[in-house]
Amino acid sequence: MVRLYGPPGGDIIPFHAAAALLAADRCRIPLVEIAREAAVRQPPGRRINPEKEGGALELRVGLGHDTHRLGGSGPIMIGGVSVTFDRGAIGHSDADVLLHAVADALLGAAGLGDIGQWFPDTDPANSGKDSSEMLATLWAEVRAQGWSLLNLDAVVFAQRPKIAPYRRAIQCRVAEILGVNPDQVSVKGKTGEGVGPIGREEAIAAECVALLSREDYPSREE
Ligand SMILES: [Zn+2]
Repeated sequence: MVRLYGPPGGDIIPFHAAAALLAADRCRIPLVEIAREAAVRQPPGRRINPEKEGGALELRVGLGHDTHRLGGSGPIMIGGVSVTFDRGAIGHSDADVLLHAVADALLGAAGLGDIGQWFPDTDPANSGKDSSEMLATLWAEVRAQGWSLLNLDAVVFAQRPKIAPYRRAIQCRVAEILGVNPDQVSVKGKTGEGVGPIGREEAIAAECVALLSREDYPSREE
């Protein structure tokens, strides 16, 4: 039996959907149901105490967003993949907008701040830095807290370049960096419909949500 626990002093809440998750081999539909139910039943900031009964599961969601100006010469790095384009993204590091959004989603879910705190753009050591390296380093920090990735879903906003031809390569590269299966990583492209800074090709942006889980982690309650 897998259980999540209610408020301190409250009743134990059976959480059969969590057991379904563990048996379903990362089926996406149970994950959505679990996330929704967990959001309803878990008070903010509450901690699970697996020592009360074995097999507790903690879930956290994180959101990441990033924007970079377009300029200079291409190619442009998107999701750890070099994408052919006549311009690049302007930034202190390699300006990989998608990997920065992914990093912030993972850090946000784990309550570990944001990428700017870990790799300040005022530090010359981060100039031109490979964002794949940064993400791998940050993901190791998140995993050290006991977290695993259930799934992430990301959107790249760009009038150009088109994301679709690179979608599978980006999905596989992000999964490779995080050491997860590609089916746990979803990447979509959206244009700016010709309006705004995205539509005028002045900027590229990305958003990402990530769902993390932690099982049987040592008690952090009371
Ligand atoms: Zn960035």
